[in-house]
Amino acid sequence: MMNTNDTPKTLLEAVKFFSDYENCRKLMMEARWPNGVVQCPFCGSDHVTYMDNTRRWKCYGKHPRAQFTLKVGTIFEDSAIPLEKWLPTVWLLANCKNGISSYEVARALGVTQKTAWFMLHRVRLAMRSGGLGMMGGEVEVDETFIGGKARNMHLQKREEKITGTGGKDKAAVLGFLRRGGEVKAEVIPNRKKKTLHAMVNEQVTPGASVYTEALASYDGLENQFDHQVVDHAIEYVKGRVHTNGLENFWSLLKRGIKGTYVSVEPFHLARYLDEQTFRYNNRNNDEIGDPGRFALVLAQIIGKRLTYDELTGKAAQEKQRQVEN
Ligand SMILES: [Zn+2]
Repeated sequence: MMNTNDTPKTLLEAVKFFSDYENCRKLMMEARWPNGVVQCPFCGSDHVTYMDNTRRWKCYGKHPRAQFTLKVGTIFEDSAIPLEKWLPTVWLLANCKNGISSYEVARALGVTQKTAWFMLHRVRLAMRSGGLGMMGGEVEVDETFIGGKARNMHLQKREEKITGTGGKDKAAVLGFLRRGGEVKAEVIPNRKKKTLHAMVNEQVTPGASVYTEALASYDGLENQFDHQVVDHAIEYVKGRVHTNGLENFWSLLKRGIKGTYVSVEPFHLARYLDEQTFRYNNRNNDEIGDPGRFALVLAQIIGKRLTYDELTGKAAQEKQRQVEN
C-alpha cells in the first residue's frame, strides 16, 4: 500500500494522484490479483504476457478475446472513462464523510454532470455490502423519513398521521444497528406492522434483544425477540434501551443528503443508503484509513464482475440446480 503522506485528501489531490497511470495500475493490480499472479479474467490462466505499449495482457488460452485490460471483469469494463478518472471518484466516495456531488466530480474530472452521476451510482453499487448476515445480540431498530422539501410542519405531521408514509415525496427507511457493530438501512414501502415485522424477521436472529420506539407497528415483536421499548413521549434512554446509535446515523445520512446532494429522489435513495452505510460501517477502521477503505470498495467493484457466470446466467442456473437437488 502507498505511503500515507501521499494519500489524497481532496478531490483535486486525488485527481492529481491518479493522473499518474502507474498509481492506477499498481492499485488495480493489488485489488485484482492480491497474490501477485495475473490471471486471465476469461479463462483463469496465468499464462499471460503484458504489453507495455497498449497496457493490455495477452492470454494464450483458447478463447475468442485473447487480450484484456485492467478494466475487463470489473464494473468499469464497458465504460470509455479511463481509470485516471474512475479511481479518484472511487477514492472520494469511499472516504468523504458527506459524500461527493456529481457536479463537483464533473468539474474536477472534465466530464459532464450526467456522466459523473452515472459513475457515482456504479461506485455505490460496489459499496453495497453483500450479506452481512443476520444481526444478534442487542439490535436497535428505527425508521425515518428522507427527502421532501421543507414545508408547513403541521401539514406534514398530519399527512404522516393519515397515510403513515410521511407524505408523497418522502421515502420511509428502516434501520438496524447492532450494538458495537454494523448498521443496515433499507427503503421500505410503508411502516405498517406487516412490513416492519417482515424486515425485522429477515435481519435479526430470533431471541436477540430488539430496541425500538413506542410505535404500534412494532407491537408483537416480543413473540420472537426480547423486544424492549423506549417511549419518546416519556424518555429517550431507559438503561440500555434506546435508539441513539441509529439517531446518530440518521443525522449523518441526512446531513450528507442535504448538504451534498441537496435532494434525492426516493427511487435512487437505496444507493445513497449503501454509500452511507459503507462509510459508517468502516468509519472506525483507522488501521486501514483512506487507502484501506478505497481498497475495500475496489475489491467489491472487481468481485461483482468476477462472478462472470452471473452475467451470462450460468450462476442462476447453477443455483436453481442446487435447489432442485
Ligand atoms: Zn484466458
